Amino acid sequence: MRELAERLVREGGLTTPQYCTLLAQCDSDTLDYLRREAVRTARQRFGCGVFVRGLIEIGSYCKCNCLYCGLRRDNHTAERYRLSEEQILASCEAGYLLGLRTFVLRSGEDAWWSDERMCRIVKAVKEQYPDAAVTLSLGERSEESYRRLYECGASRYLLRHEAADKALYEKIHSADMSYQRRMECVDRLLSIGYQTGIGMMVGVAGQSVESLAEDIAFIANRKPQMVGIGPFIPSAGTPFAEQPAGDLRTTLLVLAIVRLVVPDALIPATTALATLSTEGRKLAILSGANVVMPNLTPSAERAKYSIYNDKAALGAESAEGLKELERELESIGYHIDFARGDFKKF
Ligand code: SAH
Repeated sequence: MRELAERLVREGGLTTPQYCTLLAQCDSDTLDYLRREAVRTARQRFGCGVFVRGLIEIGSYCKCNCLYCGLRRDNHTAERYRLSEEQILASCEAGYLLGLRTFVLRSGEDAWWSDERMCRIVKAVKEQYPDAAVTLSLGERSEESYRRLYECGASRYLLRHEAADKALYEKIHSADMSYQRRMECVDRLLSIGYQTGIGMMVGVAGQSVESLAEDIAFIANRKPQMVGIGPFIPSAGTPFAEQPAGDLRTTLLVLAIVRLVVPDALIPATTALATLSTEGRKLAILSGANVVMPNLTPSAERAKYSIYNDKAALGAESAEGLKELERELESIGYHIDFARGDFKKF
């Protein structure tokens, strides 16, 4: 195993079957080695700074029916909300005053967030805070829509590919969703020039080691600027409510491998990992992650963006908790880096 791991470190990539072997047979020494190398790779580029992004969950209505997600349209127990434009701007203001210079506007897929409305919001944020970056995470949209939003000043977009393995993609999504369309959306975002984030869950029902290996190869092939990886966490009111959560060890292994495959990428220590384990955020950083996304959603709505059970949104996972986050990072020798932290090639 060590030999394969050393080859990955040396060459920055492996074949899909080799990723498979590494994922299936990684012993704890090899895992430690890969995490150490991933941390070294991240530190060479980013030092001991961790970028922060203010996450604003602007709405929980969703027309999709993803089998794993608590926001799915058939989950009638889910509470739905939409923030007003004033609330969104007030959240940005609160974040700006805390020092945040990236705002991530995320919602379920919801036609309410039309191009016209979103362009107005993006422009307003950029006008108020010209030195801040706006990241969108609104799901699948047309080429024209992505283009218009980009022209209005959104420079980053998060759209996880969810599964590079087509059979798995189809197992975890409803029939009205299309693997091909998802991949087209990812490629559109990359070609328009967005700093694009893709990624997947670890441990979702039906995911094999082969599927994960395909995800890693897909990431190596597309070379996105950002990669979001977190464990699957069961969500009440979904078909996967009784499925087991993804495991911590595999998530950290995948994070470390991905850091080595896309060394310059911005990789968050995801909320899902912080939800799975109280040590999740620190362990992710100690596996090569370099971004944290504190939650800025107004507290009255925060619990309603419930993509899975018991989602962490308080303490170091919240924007009000930046001090707590700073202390947590200090305990492992890191600190918050308040810069915009745009992607660059080193
Ligand atoms: N509608 C947007 C935002 C979705 S929420 C979009 O399509 O991009 C962001 C991510 O949360 C999803 O891409 C998915 O990978 C993740 N997610 C959804 N349900 C989850 C669950 N039960 N456990 C862990 N992650 C989940």
